[in-house]
Amino acid sequence: MDELLQSVFEAGVVGCGGAGFPTHVKLNCKPEYLLVNGVECEPMLRTDRHVMLAHAEELVEAAGNIAVRLGNPRCIFVLKDSYKEEIRSLNAAISAKGAKIELCLASSFYPAGDEQAVVFEATGRVVPPAGLPLDVGCVVINAATLFAVGNAVRGQAFIHKYLTVSGAVHAPSVLCVPVGTSFADCIAACGGATVKEYIIIAGGPLMGRRMTAGEAAGECVGKTTSGILLLPAEKAGLRRFSLEQMKNRARASCIQCTYCTELCPRHLLGHPIEPHKIMRKLAYASDIEALLTEPEIANALLCCECGVCEIYACPMGLQPRSVNAYLRKELAKKGIRYSKGAGQTPVSEDREYRKTPSRRIAERAGVGEYYSVCKADDCIAVNPQVVRLLLKQGAGSPSQPVIQSGERVKEGQLIAKCPEGALGANLHASISGIATVSADSIRIVGDQ
Ligand code: SF4
Ligand code: SF4
Repeated sequence: MDELLQSVFEAGVVGCGGAGFPTHVKLNCKPEYLLVNGVECEPMLRTDRHVMLAHAEELVEAAGNIAVRLGNPRCIFVLKDSYKEEIRSLNAAISAKGAKIELCLASSFYPAGDEQAVVFEATGRVVPPAGLPLDVGCVVINAATLFAVGNAVRGQAFIHKYLTVSGAVHAPSVLCVPVGTSFADCIAACGGATVKEYIIIAGGPLMGRRMTAGEAAGECVGKTTSGILLLPAEKAGLRRFSLEQMKNRARASCIQCTYCTELCPRHLLGHPIEPHKIMRKLAYASDIEALLTEPEIANALLCCECGVCEIYACPMGLQPRSVNAYLRKELAKKGIRYSKGAGQTPVSEDREYRKTPSRRIAERAGVGEYYSVCKADDCIAVNPQVVRLLLKQGAGSPSQPVIQSGERVKEGQLIAKCPEGALGANLHASISGIATVSADSIRIVGDQ
């Protein structure tokens, strides 16, 4: 590993925007394009926008450092054309440094921040079905991750996290918190809930993890937490359907209108996913095991679970995304994989006209009134008394503790390391205090 990758590894940087893939592994390549994803397409989130506004110079410097390491690929920041202030900030930083960085401005559609959409918008290339951006010469790094890389190069461990707390709270804000801060402390920092009964979403309103307030009681901010959203329970129920219920609903109500397929962003890029066919197969399946062997069902593996089909497209209120999510799990259990590149067709000529407008899908998801309540320019720093850091914060193996319970730790100290030779990341104390090690986490009670 060279110096840059070593510092990223030492600092425990993982992708902030998705599954938490270790960044030192992702950057170990020689791409033609380095794409910085600043699209942040989930409505209500302002985290990446804040980072681009407040830390444009650090981002430009970090992108320059990475570009040198990657063999000077073309470097493009991808963001929305509506992000006027962020565009101004980045352009000023690029000019000041004389950096060879371009901006690509996407329209305000959902999911413009999906890696495959980012690659297509910036380069016109299509990531093959079940492939990676690197298959078409691209590496995509999220803006907040790039910021963490810049800090790592300066010797700072990944111990602070920017996130958006929004929705039914008194003061929707972007926060900067130590990793491991409880959701409760984050919500309190934003003035608490404005309603009595609410649900909580970790992440964005369309793809985030939904939970009851009770379920969220033990939750804490991880390296991949981009937002905590509170939504009034009466507007955003937590209805969860079993497969049997989804099957019965599909049989009773699916009119095979094909809207779910016609508006599917992956289908529009030429991937052979056709949710209406999956719904038809499911509706009349007598044996789910046998269903899993059908080629059209394997196409569920190409679903990115964006939710356009069920939140926006389906006129009958059915759940193609949830069906796909279920099938993806079952196919994975059986070891069924999609053969990379199979079935690819040209990008749809209608893609431009069939993009889902961000505001419209936010309205459909019941979060229209919260669309712009959080601004990207301010940020509140939170200093909790207690943090709980999960040993597994992203893809790969959990980190292995290198401290004992009862030990005093200092902010920034390595407390759990990536297992030798495994995919994973180091973990550092995000506050100073006394640590308690358990099977899945390390809790630190602060000094004061
Ligand atoms: S969730 Fe629906 S719209 Fe999104 S990729 Fe999957 S099938 Fe397509
Ligand atoms: S949009 Fe809904 S009703 Fe139409 S084919 Fe898809 S699942 Fe069926």
